[in-house]
Amino acid sequence: MQGSLFNNVIDTSCLGCGLNTKVKTPQMKPYGNFKKGILNIGEAPGEQEDATGKPFQGRAGRALQQAYSEVGIDLFEDCLNINAVSCRTMDNEGNNRTPTNQEIAHCRNRVFNYINKYKPKIIVLLGSSAVQSVIGGRWKKNLGTITKWRGWAIPDREFKAWICPTLHPSYVIRQSDAPEVYTVWMQDLQRISDLVSTQFPTFEDESKYVKIISRIEMVNVLNKLMTSDKIFIDVETTGLKPYNKDQHKIVCISICNAKNNVYVLPAPETDEELDALKQLLENPNVGKMAHNMKYEDTWLKVMYNINVNPWIWDSMIASHVLDNRTEISSLKFQVYVNFGIADYDSAIEKYLHGIDDKNANSPNKIMELVANPIKRKELFTYCGLDSLFGYRLALKQKELIEC
Ligand code: URA
Repeated sequence: MQGSLFNNVIDTSCLGCGLNTKVKTPQMKPYGNFKKGILNIGEAPGEQEDATGKPFQGRAGRALQQAYSEVGIDLFEDCLNINAVSCRTMDNEGNNRTPTNQEIAHCRNRVFNYINKYKPKIIVLLGSSAVQSVIGGRWKKNLGTITKWRGWAIPDREFKAWICPTLHPSYVIRQSDAPEVYTVWMQDLQRISDLVSTQFPTFEDESKYVKIISRIEMVNVLNKLMTSDKIFIDVETTGLKPYNKDQHKIVCISICNAKNNVYVLPAPETDEELDALKQLLENPNVGKMAHNMKYEDTWLKVMYNINVNPWIWDSMIASHVLDNRTEISSLKFQVYVNFGIADYDSAIEKYLHGIDDKNANSPNKIMELVANPIKRKELFTYCGLDSLFGYRLALKQKELIEC
């Protein structure tokens, strides 16, 4: 067991699912010469794979081999090939079937151990079982379908590899009367081929750029920010809607004004602090950005009578403009697919849900964090990272949209 990645793995032993007792090739070994550092992860061996002891030998394997050859990749020379589940999965009639999430969990350690051993440059997830195996154990939110994941080239920081989910070849074969499915698949594979010569980015721990500001420094910092041309803002609040003013408040505000600089301020209390915040947020020369600006706009208006102006960018709307698939515009999803961090928020996120989920005015549990100095620091850092990543995301989006 090495690294934090492995600490997250559910403790389910390989033999626990019992599939190995029913197949000709138990625990199928990886196969391929791996010359371009690509690791393909399929679903599970089928009948032909089980009989020959090698992955991707049947109809789906041939379709993948052919498609890869069109983008200059040789399936067995350039790649290493494994499956999310390494033993064949069969129904009662002896036909191939999709593995269950439980079977995938039993095999996850094996998959992670191969990744750790071979250190692939690119990990191609073919279909939803592979996504469940590699992303499912670390993604704490709803995993959703392959439609939401396919096509991204995720610079995954824990694996230090590009993760490229795409459609499973059997699905593409089944959709032969929908040519756009094949077109989209080929686009994904072309992108994978282009990544072979793309350097993997170097990352640092961005929390070092988060400056938690005390009340004494606050007015000074707000005045200094007046010279910024644009800022990204994020507020942490005691609930979703601010309208019940007696019950609700803003807990902290993060303001990012450069790729590597973000301030997190406690909520203003004195007239001087409020005035300095108002001067900044209403300054016409400082453009404002947020992820779902309606949220920041409403809370700041209702709580402090601040009319944020001018709004110049909403990274949530921009993510939808760039790609209109459902379930992809949350900041956390965008941070993972763009900057490779699967989970910087799970310690905090559970405190941000309303106690009564059906009532948008219901308070959440954020004040429990504020009461504890260590947890308060975690909350403020999380708030700062939201703005820092939001700022970086907005810059990336602007380049794509405005070019
Ligand atoms: N062959 C495999 O080895 N895995 C698949 O997912 C499909 C075919």
